[in-house]
Amino acid sequence: MSPTPHPKNERTFLMVKPDGVKRGLTGEIIKRLEQRNLKIVALEMFQATREQIDGHYPKDETWIRRVGGKTLSTYEKYGYDAKEELGTSDDLEIGKMVREWLIAFMVSAPMVRMVVEGVHAVEMVRKLVGPTMPSAAEMGTIRGDYSVDSAASANKEHRAVHNLVHASETAEEAAHETEFWFGGEGRVFSYKRSEEEMQF
Ligand code: ADP
Repeated sequence: MSPTPHPKNERTFLMVKPDGVKRGLTGEIIKRLEQRNLKIVALEMFQATREQIDGHYPKDETWIRRVGGKTLSTYEKYGYDAKEELGTSDDLEIGKMVREWLIAFMVSAPMVRMVVEGVHAVEMVRKLVGPTMPSAAEMGTIRGDYSVDSAASANKEHRAVHNLVHASETAEEAAHETEFWFGGEGRVFSYKRSEEEMQF
């Protein structure tokens, strides 16, 4: 049996979304990752196509219903009527609408994609980024410090939630997204940060 990999070699995938790029927050986001000792091992600005974003986000019913459910719960929390606003209160129908708005948002301007390596990188990056809905994100997280959107607000304007960053949620998602966006030879690098080279 092969030994389990060292936690410091874990990798995750992160994208600065169009709102992050257009607000000039790319550097700030990278800074927050690097100061937490996470290592950038791949980095690139690019313009996504509709097809790419369609391939990036899951298409299964569970994921679509979960996204639709997020709308329903923020509508409930803030006292909005989903049926009145969106013509339906079905989580699957709403999820499909949101997925379309999300694709339109993600192709609306260039994004910056990267692969980040470090101790428990997937969990660490999600923690630095904060929860999906910026209105629920704590101060000190990227979303909590720089954005203030919610599904109730976004969906009233028939758009996706603007939350600055995408970050993989699980190790499997990270592996899949890294391959999807940085597949091919030599696009993800290996090097030691200077503190790793120090001898104690
Ligand atoms: P995360 O990006 O935090 O992993 P999800 O995978 O659940 O969140 O959703 C993907 C993206 O879709 C979110 O980051 C957000 O931009 C958008 N989104 C999710 N749920 C909604 C919603 N109910 N209304 C509008 N946009 C949403």
